[in-house]
Amino acid sequence: SRRPVVAGNWKMNGHLELADQLVEKFATELNSDAVEVVLCPPAVFLSDLSKKLEQNRERLSAVELGIGGQNASALEKGAHTGEIAASMLKAAGCEYVILGHSERRAMYGDTPELVAEKFAQAKANGLTPILCTGESEDEREAGKTFEVIAQDLEKVIECNGKQAFDNAIIAYEPLWAIGTGKSATPEQAQEVHAFIRGHLAKIGDVDADTVRILYGGSVTPDNADELFAQADVDGGLIGGASLVADKFIKLCQLA
Ligand code: 13P
Repeated sequence: SRRPVVAGNWKMNGHLELADQLVEKFATELNSDAVEVVLCPPAVFLSDLSKKLEQNRERLSAVELGIGGQNASALEKGAHTGEIAASMLKAAGCEYVILGHSERRAMYGDTPELVAEKFAQAKANGLTPILCTGESEDEREAGKTFEVIAQDLEKVIECNGKQAFDNAIIAYEPLWAIGTGKSATPEQAQEVHAFIRGHLAKIGDVDADTVRILYGGSVTPDNADELFAQADVDGGLIGGASLVADKFIKLCQLA
């Protein structure tokens, strides 16, 4: 059985007070390690957040809580102004890193190849990648959903070997559902998640039944119950609702 994961992707939002609110709520309202919670704030907050969690370790002892970056460089180090190395995320206290988010693919040149190289760096530095994949509205209408997703998975395996998804998380995020208020239906999510698991079993050399596959795209406390109830949906990658402490805790409780 797979322990569900609820990860909050703050994107370029949020502030440290939100971290305070979340820590307070985790300590008082989430007395359970049945769900793995991941907070992914902007990189400059990671060290402070990591210290905050450490300071509250006793109070948070019942909660499985980790932090992650939102991106990492494909390179080890060097003259790459503005980039952050996976080793630096690790040093700042991260256990996870989101890779290949569609916003980065659309705006910052994250091709499937580059994402696969970032994945390698993340793994080499002991981070658990949260690999995002998903189709645009046009691709869905053209019947290319599976093809697009298969390509992302195959690139990662090409570059990282057949065991790449051993200790990695996948997030299915259909582009048309991100920040739109129009979530995929539970059936749509389940169909794609089942495809991802089946394809992993086919092209990889991992036990695909142990890989966590999260759904992302307009998840709220109102629609999460049904989404999380799907057989192959193992939690969520949450944008907007991760910025509101009450909502995020609710989502963690629902997973
Ligand atoms: P929303 O939850 O705001 O739709 O964002 C989803 C997302 O992109 C998480 O990575």
